[in-house]
Amino acid sequence: MLSERLKNTIKDYPDFPKKDIIFKDISPIIANPELFSDLIDKIVKYSFFKDADAIIAIDARGFIFGSPIAKIVKKPLIMARKKNKLPGLVLEKSYGLEYSQDILTIQEDAILPFKKFVIVDDLLATGGTVQCVIDMLKKKNKKILALSVIIELGFLEGAKSLDIPIYSEVKY
Ligand code: AMP
Repeated sequence: MLSERLKNTIKDYPDFPKKDIIFKDISPIIANPELFSDLIDKIVKYSFFKDADAIIAIDARGFIFGSPIAKIVKKPLIMARKKNKLPGLVLEKSYGLEYSQDILTIQEDAILPFKKFVIVDDLLATGGTVQCVIDMLKKKNKKILALSVIIELGFLEGAKSLDIPIYSEVKY
């Protein structure tokens, strides 16, 4: 099963980047072309991609997965990037994640033509990062159809705080 293959491949780094955090490293997934390909092939079959106007991927590991997905489902790809990385007029919002605090930005003109979005990231922990993107999109009256992540840290209950459907490929 894909989830078992992912579990056997993802590497845990205890106490990184801070004490008591178990960092789930996705590097061995993308270093395994067969697994990476099978993973993307599974995700692109979700029907919500067909209904979406655009995909919004989160800095930085969300880009790794969002890019091949967007190419295959043939939908526009938009980046939610860390502060001071995107030029022009941007939406901006601060957020807390499992182990730090940061600011995300989205280019206003990039989302302007679209109404329905799917969010893509590598991992859902507390949900703070995804909530930040949801808040920015909702402020502009956009609709979020789903969140697609590779890993969900279920014990942190991030899913409970988000009022959108969540699709994860491996859950802890
Ligand atoms: P959160 O906002 O708490 O849901 O954190 C999600 C974001 O932080 C994702 O973009 C992940 O890349 C990163 N992250 C949080 N916790 C971990 C973890 N235990 N291992 C790897 N990445 C993590």
